[in-house]
Amino acid sequence: MSSVTVRVPAKVNLQLSVGSERHDGYHELATVFQAVGLCDEIIARTPSTPGITLSISGEGEGELPLDEENLAYRAALLLAGHTGAKPDVDLHIHKSIPIAGGMAGGSADAAATLLACDTLWRQATPRDELMALAAELGSDVPFALHGGTAIGTGRGENLTPVLSRGTFHWVFAIAEGGLSTPDVYRECDRLRGGRSVPDPYVSDILMQAAAAGDPVLLGKALHNDLQAAALSLRPALRQVLEVGEDFGALGGIVSGSGPTCAFVARDEEHSLDLAVALTAAGVCRTVRRGQGPVVGARVTG
Ligand code: ATP
Repeated sequence: MSSVTVRVPAKVNLQLSVGSERHDGYHELATVFQAVGLCDEIIARTPSTPGITLSISGEGEGELPLDEENLAYRAALLLAGHTGAKPDVDLHIHKSIPIAGGMAGGSADAAATLLACDTLWRQATPRDELMALAAELGSDVPFALHGGTAIGTGRGENLTPVLSRGTFHWVFAIAEGGLSTPDVYRECDRLRGGRSVPDPYVSDILMQAAAAGDPVLLGKALHNDLQAAALSLRPALRQVLEVGEDFGALGGIVSGSGPTCAFVARDEEHSLDLAVALTAAGVCRTVRRGQGPVVGARVTG
């Protein structure tokens, strides 16, 4: 095999409940991830010379590091170290997931690279080992392999699948420029002003909405504890959320640490109307649509 292609989805957090900071600096979370059809594509090829090379097109082209600072590069190295395979691969990432957009694009690329290299190097690493390597790379990486809808606890890396019926229609308002996840957590702590916070939890109503495939209930149940912090750092996002609400979104939320805003539409046609309205309002850099849940990273060619 000389070339493997893997597609990997972005995520939205249907709920992100943030507890207090732990001794290791991470916050204790209870989150509900959904994988959505806004995907990066990773192509892994056998190189003509030994070593790892990385190239990127699309979102973040020319901005992202192409060395060990890139999570995809690190994923290839980690897998080689774990399996004993030679770390020889030419990686190309075609990115559609916005950079630092709160949709776990870097984590998605890392998950896809684990799978692509494992296939290219014919290692057949057991799934549980791949998931453990994913957790070493970052809190959101296991979910990008897993896909679907799942509860994440701990830092978000302990996953429990959620029963989800039907398909939800999402519209994403993608902002100019990203937000740094650590900055958003710091702002969240600053806004909390040292007050004690309850243990993070998952809402029963959200579970009901997912199980029933009910977009109205889902829209009402969306909740993100980081939203106030993201709005504090990027006040213009209020207007984005308002435009979504004005055009009948069933719910709107800042995705993860932002600044992408995610809206639930009634159906496919409504998602088109919402996308047009957000584009016409000129409140974001670009608008994308995607359905959820979708499967996690998978080999497509
Ligand atoms: P999350 O939702 O997991 O907090 P995010 O979607 O906000 O993440 P990412 O796009 O995953 O943010 O990236 C955050 C930072 O990670 C970027 O600023 C970038 O410098 C670095 N990074 C390293 N590798 C990658 C990659 N393959 N794609 C995107 N960013 C990467």
